[in-house]
Amino acid sequence: MARIAGVDVSLDHYIGGERVPSSDRFDDVSPIDERVLGEIARGGMPEARQAVDAAEGAFEKWASTSPEERAAALHRIADGIEVRLETLAAVETEDNGALLRSHLHGVMPRVAHNFRFFADWLCQLRHEDFETRGHRNHVSWDPAGVAVLITPWNAPLMLETWKVAPALAAGDTVVLKPAEWSPLTASLLADVSAEAGLAPGVLNVVQGIGEEVGDALVSDPRVARISFTGSAPTARLIAARAAANLVPTSFELGGKSPLLVFRDADMQLAVDLAVEQYDNAGQVCLAGTRLLVDAAVLDELTERLVARAGSLRQGDPRDPSTDIGPQITRAHVERVDGFVRRAVDDGAEVLLGGGPNTDLGGLYYRPTLLTGARQGAEILTEEVFGPVLTLQSFESEEEAVSLANGTKYGLAATVVTGDEERAARVASHLVAGTVWVNCFFVRDLRAPFGGSRQSGIGREGGNWSFDFYCDVKSSVFAPGGYRS
Ligand code: NAD
Repeated sequence: MARIAGVDVSLDHYIGGERVPSSDRFDDVSPIDERVLGEIARGGMPEARQAVDAAEGAFEKWASTSPEERAAALHRIADGIEVRLETLAAVETEDNGALLRSHLHGVMPRVAHNFRFFADWLCQLRHEDFETRGHRNHVSWDPAGVAVLITPWNAPLMLETWKVAPALAAGDTVVLKPAEWSPLTASLLADVSAEAGLAPGVLNVVQGIGEEVGDALVSDPRVARISFTGSAPTARLIAARAAANLVPTSFELGGKSPLLVFRDADMQLAVDLAVEQYDNAGQVCLAGTRLLVDAAVLDELTERLVARAGSLRQGDPRDPSTDIGPQITRAHVERVDGFVRRAVDDGAEVLLGGGPNTDLGGLYYRPTLLTGARQGAEILTEEVFGPVLTLQSFESEEEAVSLANGTKYGLAATVVTGDEERAARVASHLVAGTVWVNCFFVRDLRAPFGGSRQSGIGREGGNWSFDFYCDVKSSVFAPGGYRS
């Protein structure tokens, strides 16, 4: 147990309704100032087995509860989150360094909403019937079994509950493995679930390193579903494990998304949306890091963007006046800087930033804007996952679309234009799981979410989540008997 932001947080696993320690432990370090927050239990094969045992043992009873009972349990979890909103926000900020004000006003309310949304969706899920001559096909959404959920550090509790809520709603039991860089709020979620009355084993949280306990979990043949959010290289390893047991997987992966600004755009909006791409210190999968700008407005946009982004305040994420906090680890800062150094060596020019903010120590990277990278350069094609944007110009709509679609990714795209016909035309040609026109990041949870190409496999949200977490069954009833 550690006292963090004024609250006691268990650093152990949560398996079968009990706190379970491990003899091996690892340091959880705050990106704010590299303070050790606590020594986290470092799970391995035994803890993975124990957690799947617990989830398997709890499955039959949880799966046979009525949708209304499950929905009520999810609403109780949402209540528990809302009661602890400030605590969860503060602990998450200590743990992953994202802005406290974002956690308070955006992230944690959304965490509660994830549970309420899937609780309500469950209650109106349609069990369709197709009447045919002499027989009736009944479509039901049956619980699938044990779901293993593996998540990254950049938005821990939001991404965890985006999976936990629909999996529980579907009647699956869950083993959640949070990222080793941000393990704390998942531990608090276990407390909330216990207080909400979830039976032991319905939700288990296993802590540890991806290559160790994560690998053990995705290799377990008893697992019925694997939902993963993280990087493409990890997804490949998990896919290989899942293939051995033919387990359905859902992958939400990285991106290199474009933000297209046309000459008919509202320039103030275009600058606002471009600056938003530095949110969470650039550690956002959906970020439109490739700014593709109509040559007619390139100079104006560049000048206004450099002025605005240059005035962003970098510092302690607990301070309400801070705009940009730290990167998650020193190794990540070095990785981000490596991309920028190689881009410059390859001919790119730095318009803003271009290195760590040494005034603030080793974990803060300055918001950076690069231009003049050569077509096909690494900085234009690989995900940096830091506060680094690139500028490119285009002469025509066709060229804009071709540049936008010119990577192996297809997670999201943002279009800024004042012309509705152009908006519809361009959106229809972009390869992306989500296209935003004159907006960014907003989304109705009923809509599908996911990535095209190497940005993911499958979609989650609304019915898409239930499609994944359930075994969809067709039962054919012939009341009077039927012979073909
Ligand atoms: P990562 O792939 O390194 O790790 C993600 C999770 O996988 C962690 O919990 C880690 O412990 C676990 N893991 C690592 N190796 C494993 C293995 N062999 N077996 C099982 N589990 C393993 O990713 P990251 O660095 O934590 O996160 C950043 C990446 O996540 C970026 O690529 C980002 O774009 C992506 N991301 C995508 C979305 C989305 O919704 N599409 C959202 C957020 C982040």
